[in-house]
Parts: sequence; structure tokens; C-alpha cells
Amino acid sequence: MSDDGQELGITESKSHNTGEWYAEVVQKAGLADYGPEGMSGFIVTRPRAYAIWERLQGFLDAKFKDTGVQNAYFPLFIPESYLEREKDIVEGFDPEVAWVTEAGTKELEERLAVRPTSESIITPYISQWVRSHRDLPLRVNQWCSVVRWEATETKPFFRTKEFLWQEGHTAHATDEGAWDETLTRLGQYESVYEDLLAIPVLKGQKPDHDKFPGADTTTTVEALMPDGKSVQGATSHHLGRSFAEAFDITFSDEDEEDRVAHTTSWGLSWRALGALIMTHSDEQGLVLPPTVAPEQVVVVPIWQEDTKGEVLAYAEGVAEDLDDADIRVELDDRDERNPGFKFNEHELNGVPLRIEIGPHEVDDDELTLVHRPDGESVVEDRKGVAETVRDHFDEVYAKLYAAAEETLDGEVREADDRAGILGTLGQHGGYVKTPWCGDEACEEPIKEPMAAEIVMVPFEDDDPLVDHGDDGDDGDDGDGENGDGEDHGDETCAICGDDAERTA
Ligand code: AMP
Repeated sequence: MSDDGQELGITESKSHNTGEWYAEVVQKAGLADYGPEGMSGFIVTRPRAYAIWERLQGFLDAKFKDTGVQNAYFPLFIPESYLEREKDIVEGFDPEVAWVTEAGTKELEERLAVRPTSESIITPYISQWVRSHRDLPLRVNQWCSVVRWEATETKPFFRTKEFLWQEGHTAHATDEGAWDETLTRLGQYESVYEDLLAIPVLKGQKPDHDKFPGADTTTTVEALMPDGKSVQGATSHHLGRSFAEAFDITFSDEDEEDRVAHTTSWGLSWRALGALIMTHSDEQGLVLPPTVAPEQVVVVPIWQEDTKGEVLAYAEGVAEDLDDADIRVELDDRDERNPGFKFNEHELNGVPLRIEIGPHEVDDDELTLVHRPDGESVVEDRKGVAETVRDHFDEVYAKLYAAAEETLDGEVREADDRAGILGTLGQHGGYVKTPWCGDEACEEPIKEPMAAEIVMVPFEDDDPLVDHGDDGDDGDDGDGENGDGEDHGDETCAICGDDAERTA
């Protein structure tokens, strides 16, 4: 119990009450608070969560800059007339847009939308900056927040009305260039999840009825949560020419002919933090991989009055060596707390590795290392502590990834008729792979009984589905169908029995 009588540890069960357990971890591990009364769906991001976001930002931003992206910043507001220029965007986001109609005591001449996404304000400027094919490709990204007045239930980080994200916007001379860009960014999002957050993801394409408004193709990385639900981890959109036409991005090609550009946009939000917390944490609290943990390792000295001096001096030396090696280390030498309390607190806060130092360790010139995810305890030499700790970080990361991968592998099943799909999902949640004709109507019979949906058409063997290799004047590959390029032989749609064109 804390001084104010509140239970310090986690009381909810991850497997039985996943939603309540998640909310408890978020609050008790000091990650976020709920917004003020009257502002449901908004959160306050506390420093420890913001520190994780900054690490993610640093990782992804470096990848962007290595691949030709420049950061910029555009206004928070979008004039209504701009938003209206691309009709799909207006229709798609209309129910979720917050409007500014007054400034001070004056009514505005034109309503301003608080950006739900910024294509409508960024594309007109790209149009001014692009004159010739030599200006292409043009890539800008902004780190900002957007506002979407979500109608469905909100949940810290996963779905909030204002959320932090990055949004990248690019223009290209050819359809192929835009498609390459779309997949490059999707690959970078995959890397955020797999190489930074220890979460395996599946890559694929959204069904047409669930695309980003105005997009030709929406590609996605999906992560499976422990409650069997799929989370759309980030999306990369091939926008074709719809925005370039609406906002007039034209350029003169090598032959001085005027041509319309192809554009893309791509975004990853702090939903990634939600997936991170949900995937690895447990009933002791937060679990984080060392890659993003604000404190990577905590040194806890364990002393009696007669050993205090030597134990503390030894622990300080260890912490100093780690600090010198740029490892994020905390020395917990608080007098007023006993070791058991400290262990619990650091477990709740998700510190990936603990070093325990008592008189035995001092005598033997050793350290006891404890892994947060499974409590494994290992005795190591004091010498070369920084390198040893780094090796243990790798082990902790590998453990987290392997556990998440095992869950995912066990949750991808196959079925080829409606009863099979519903039976499989009813028991487990997770994913079912099934042949599909491509018609939205065939989603209804699985949506109704159990809120299942077509999450995506997965990329097979990492290969994208739609052939975007043409120079694509119309963005279509001209074969009159929009299948996944796979040979589905005599497979038939699991719902209607028509020929299957893809696997969903
Ligand atoms: P979009 O521009 O709609 O494709 O959104 C880009 C990404 O932002 C999505 O793939 C989601 O992962 C994330 N996202 C969308 N809406 C929200 C929200 N309300 N809260 C947090 N993240 C969101």
C-alpha cells in the first residue's frame, strides 16, 4: 500500500480482464493519466512514456533521413476549402473533424479544421515546390499531433482523440517510384516493431473498403495482441494521382511534357506504445525491451549497517562504469526503502535488468543479474560489466521477441468455409487465413456474429500483392482485376463460393 492507501502493485488479471489490466499498468507504471473531465479520449503523456516515444522517434527519424526524407512543419489548422478539394478525404474524415469557428470574440470567415491528417494542407505546397522532374521525388515528414474525434471507445495510446504521430508525404514522377516508396516506409515500420519493440508483425494490404480515404492502396503492419485482437500498427498509403490531381502537382518531364505526379503518405502513431505495453507486460507491471526503456538497468545495493560502506562503494563503481559506457543506469541507494520494495517498484516500472549487489558479490568480485521478463538470475564477473550487461540486454530482447512470436505463430490458422472461420475465431480470436473473392459483402457474415473482420490481405513471402510495376497512367495494372497476384487455382471464397482472388 502507498501512503494514501492505494494498492501499489497490479491487481487486475492480464488474461481475464485485459482492458482493466492495461489501464492499470499505464497508470501505475507512470506512463499516462486521463485528460481533464469533459475531455474523454484525451490523455496526458507522462515523462516516462514520452521518453519511450522519443527513442522510437530517434530510431525512425534516422531511418527516414537515411532514405531521403526531410522534416518540415505545417499549420495545425486546415481551411475548409482546402479539405474539400479532395472529396474522399472530406467524406472519410468528416465525422471525426474538430472545427474552429471563432477566434476570441470574432466569428471566422471560413471554418478551420484541426488537422485529422495533413494531405490537404501539405499537398498544395508540394505542388508549388515541384516544377520539373528534377524536383522529384520530393519527401517531407512532420512529427506532430492530429485530432480525430473518434466515435468508438478510446484507450490510452491505442485510440485517443489527439495523438502523436509522424506523417510523411511524398511526390514521385512514376507510379513505380510511389509504390517503392510505399513499401520502403512499410519496411521501416516493420523494423520499428521487430527491431526496436520486440514485436513481430504481419505485412499486408487493407481490403478496398477499408483503405485510407483517397488512397489507391493502403498497406499495413499488423500486430497481434494477447487478447487475440489485431492492431493496425502503422500504415503506408499509395495515393495514386487523386491528391496530385486535386491539388495540381504537375511537373514537366524530360520531354518538357506536363505530367501529374504520384503521391504517397505514411504514418505511425503512439499506438505503437500501446502495442508495446500490451504485448510484453505482465501481472507485476510494465515490461520493456532495453532498446526503449528509460532506465535500462537498476543497481540495487543490499546492505546491513556493518557492510553498508563497502557495498555502496562497490555499487557506485558499477553504476559509474555503466554510465561511462552510455548505458541508462539508475543506482537505487535510497535508505528509506528495503530491497524487496525496490525490486517490486522497478518491476512495476519495467526496468529490463536488475543488478543486485550484497556483501557476497563484493567479496567474490561478482554481480547478480536478474532479467525482468522471467526473473532469471545469473551471477557474472564484475570485470567487463558494461559488455556483460549489453549481452544480457540482447538476451532479454530475444526472450521478449520469442514469446511474442510464439503467440503469433500459434494464432494464425486456416479455414475454408464460414463455419470453419467462425468456429476457429470463436475459440481463439487471432487470425484465420481464408480464400476470399474480394467482395466487401462477404465480410458481413463474419462481422455480424462476432465482430470479426477482414484485417488484411497478407503479403506472401514478403512480396507485395498488387502489381504496381507499370508506369501506370491510371494506377491500374490493366488486367481488370485486383487480386493478390497469387495463383488461387480452384479455391473458392469461403463465404459466397465464387472464385477466390486473394487470401484474406
Ligand atoms: P491513418 O492516417 O489513418 O492511416 O493512420 C496512421 C496510423 O495512425 C494508423 O495505422 C494507426 O496505427 C494510427 N492511428 C489512427 N487513429 C489513431 C488514434 N485515434 N489513436 C492512435 N493512433 C491512431
